[in-house]
Amino acid sequence: MILNLEPLYSSIVEDIKQRVARLPRTPKLVAVTCQPEPSTLSYLRSQEKQAKRFGIEFAVYEAPKASDLKLLLPKLSADDSINGIFLTHPLPPEISEIEAISLISPDKDVEGRHPANLGKIMYDSPIFPPCTAEAVLRIIKYLGDPTGKRISVIGRSVTVGKPLALLLLQKGIDATVTVCHSRTKNIAEITRESDIVVVAIGRAKALNKDYFKPGTTVIDVGINVENDEIFGDVDPSVAEICDLTPVPGGVGRITTLVLMEHTVKAVEIARNIL
Ligand code: NAP
Repeated sequence: MILNLEPLYSSIVEDIKQRVARLPRTPKLVAVTCQPEPSTLSYLRSQEKQAKRFGIEFAVYEAPKASDLKLLLPKLSADDSINGIFLTHPLPPEISEIEAISLISPDKDVEGRHPANLGKIMYDSPIFPPCTAEAVLRIIKYLGDPTGKRISVIGRSVTVGKPLALLLLQKGIDATVTVCHSRTKNIAEITRESDIVVVAIGRAKALNKDYFKPGTTVIDVGINVENDEIFGDVDPSVAEICDLTPVPGGVGRITTLVLMEHTVKAVEIARNIL
């Protein structure tokens, strides 16, 4: 069946509203965009809408060149009126992802991509884990206690697969994790032995019913646009035998809330009100 994540979504919304109401000031989230594509602009519009809904101030800055980023990101990081900063893709070719992200203060890196924030996950002390990885962890915990569960994560990107594997390995979460990627042989052998499978590969409908034993929980992170339609990485027919998260309206919907929650958390930490 297709899983209903509405109660989880509503409880996070309620929690954010209550936390914003307790803050001494309006949180401010800013996006920095370099050479925005139509999909980036639509992403920014939806983030702005979400921010407004929670009373979070939102602004977009443009930095078309690497030299602009090198000036702007440290400036925004030092600005006390700003609590969260995120950077959209694509970046200018002259600057690497790690170089650009490292220009953002880790305290304002609400997307959780700064090496310092990724490193904290290693110590079982995440502050701002990557939003999508955290969204998946929330969904897994919402669906049941992950202790001792065999969880396979398909995909090893720095924003989804790798940090998620580490979040699931944390003491207190205690899953047994297997990570697969494009060079893994016989992925179906691994996924068919798993209690939970998280799929984040970026290939529309790539995993069909052959990959899962009946009753498996399948978390579909994929967002693939084909002919103006959105598809996950998992074939929808999998819902006939497994519990499958919806696409759209599943992981992606929770992820946008996590970004807002991180912005609120940044103020709470700065003001010592956690
Ligand atoms: P990515 O950086 O392109 O990484 C994809 C990963 O999948 C890589 O590790 C790759 O392996 C692996 N892979 C590719 N084809 C595979 C295959 N056939 N079998 C096994 N592994 C395979 O992608 P990403 O940023 O993690 O995103 C993954 C998907 O999630 C995309 O559809 C993206 O749009 C979506 N996404 C959704 C959200 C959300 O909020 N819902 C957020 C971020 C991303 P190698 O490392 O060997 O190349």
